[in-house]
Amino acid sequence: MKHIETIIVGAGPCGLSAAIELEKNGLDYLVIEKGNIAQAIFNYPTHQTFFSSSEKLSIGDFPFITEAHKPKRNQALVYYREAVKHFDLNINTYEEVTSGRKENSRFILESSKGRYSCKYLIIATGYYGQPNALNVPGEHKAKVSHYFKEAHPFFNQNVLIIGGKNSSVDAAIELEKADSNVTVVYRQDAYSQSVKPWVLPQFDSLVKHEKINMHFSTDVKDIKNDSVVLEKNGETFEIVNDHVFAMIGYRPDYRFLQSLGIELNENEFGTAPYHNPGTMETNVNGLYIAGVIAAGNDANTIFIENGRFHGVRIADDIFRKEKES
Ligand code: FAD
Ligand code: NAP
Repeated sequence: MKHIETIIVGAGPCGLSAAIELEKNGLDYLVIEKGNIAQAIFNYPTHQTFFSSSEKLSIGDFPFITEAHKPKRNQALVYYREAVKHFDLNINTYEEVTSGRKENSRFILESSKGRYSCKYLIIATGYYGQPNALNVPGEHKAKVSHYFKEAHPFFNQNVLIIGGKNSSVDAAIELEKADSNVTVVYRQDAYSQSVKPWVLPQFDSLVKHEKINMHFSTDVKDIKNDSVVLEKNGETFEIVNDHVFAMIGYRPDYRFLQSLGIELNENEFGTAPYHNPGTMETNVNGLYIAGVIAAGNDANTIFIENGRFHGVRIADDIFRKEKES
């Protein structure tokens, strides 16, 4: 068993930002990441442009400079790789943390490659690995995906997109460009306020010009091999379908959090892990959360833009505790 003072689980932007703060404070730490660094961003749509400026995606005061105001996915991947090199961060990649528990005053972690004990534990595992469920028949068919990468395979195909926020709207615009026959179904009766204001006019124009079929107040009832059954205002109808993108959001791995003893709170947006926003410490002494995981089910309150500052609060708290002990 390896003994380390602080372990960070997850090398997304917010886990990396926490590592930089610990490094700057001269604290002993290790980041354990199940993929490679910034794995969630790697899994974004290939041609994704961020809605944040590069400055707001930067971590540890390490400049992220791009010619255009808003960077693309690949530029962010380059930037986070350079940040890891610049700060010489301690990261084990391709190692998944599979379980954890507190024994006396230390945390014991099991991973795909070994066992660790640590005094402080920071969970920064994001939400992108756990898509929400539709709970309708057929949702596990191979033609249903919760991740959109590129439009080319869907040229001349009948594609259904479920959901009404940024992932749905972005995918619909890109698919329409590649001559997919795109239908979007959204359970609300109007566009969401969360859709970025510079994207919505383009999407709405495609709807008005009948390039995208938009159905508000519509639910999916059944996903069949060659069609989908939809329900709008109490009426059921069926459309031909080849592929489904269920862009219905993602959620933290609550089972993992609860197994560590973290309590979950119910708020107006659903479930969220309990934490002190000033220190990011949970109800378990020495156990912190960082990044979008802190928002629970509401993916539209914490982003890289603000989650990147969690590491400073955590490092300050650990530094204070170490000084006092
Ligand atoms: P993540 O980046 O999800 O990192 C979590 C890491 O933990 C992953 O690398 C994962 O592999 C690892 N992990 C998970 N479980 C384990 C385990 N058991 N063991 C080891 N490692 C594990 N935010 C913005 O601020 N601006 C934007 O413009 C923006 N654009 C976005 C575009 C898209 C398409 C999406 C989906 C999100 C966007 N976001 C944006 C939100 C942003 O992606 C997330 O806020 C960001 O990735 C969160 O960072 P994080 O470090 O909290 O989590
Ligand atoms: P999201 O913001 O969580 O939106 C999920 C959508 O699916 C919502 O419209 C929701 O409806 C709907 N939905 C949820 N459960 C459903 C169900 N069971 N049945 C039918 N519909 C359901 O997810 P997202 O769009 O993937 O965005 C995730 C994060 O990535 C956000 O932080 C977002 O800002 C970010 N993002 C950024 C960019 C960019 O930078 N360009 C692009 C894409 C995503 P309601 O509206 O009724 O809740």
